[in-house]
Amino acid sequence: MRWIEKLKTVDAPFLSHHPLCTSFTEDLLQIRGWKLCLGCAISYPLAIIVIIGSIWLPYGNWDWKLLAMTGIPLGLLQLLSTIGLTKKRILKIIIKIILGIGLGLTALFILKIPLPFPIRMLIFIVGAQLASIPAGLRSRNIKKKCEECPYNAEWGSCPGYIGTSYNNGTEHELPIMPAGNETVLYPLSKNQNLELPVRLK
Ligand code: SF4
Repeated sequence: MRWIEKLKTVDAPFLSHHPLCTSFTEDLLQIRGWKLCLGCAISYPLAIIVIIGSIWLPYGNWDWKLLAMTGIPLGLLQLLSTIGLTKKRILKIIIKIILGIGLGLTALFILKIPLPFPIRMLIFIVGAQLASIPAGLRSRNIKKKCEECPYNAEWGSCPGYIGTSYNNGTEHELPIMPAGNETVLYPLSKNQNLELPVRLK
């Protein structure tokens, strides 16, 4: 396997930041076999575009206070996602777009604060640390969802982490269904089925 192919699955959190099973389809952007974290794939490039766009666009002339008053509240809207109010994919996308704009404006605000450069860098580092808190909460949300899954958050053997460093080669008591894009009904008895997530293709 070429290294670039291996990168697609080598470690789910590396590019996808979510498990690679059908339970997390809404959180992933899938392009030609690549599975990227939807939020990161939208927000970070957009933040960079906003920063570069400030060279030509009117907000590039805003003073630092206006940039702060606009960028920080936009960035904080991400908390709606963190507390689970954006279940639908379209809502997730809208919030990530707003987050990207907020991050870009906040970065410009920090660059423009009338303080010595080292202090501005310190503020930037503290800001980046604060911005990573929602990422920590996202892990908690993933764990919560996995605990409600029939595979019961057993990442060492569940379909979501096959081919990643989480998989430890143990066999789960439930079968692992073939990879696909839809959950599969597994018959437990004549009248009872269990909906099983599958590894994404
Ligand atoms: S426990 Fe279930 S939901 Fe979680 S990663 Fe595994 S298969 Fe997906």
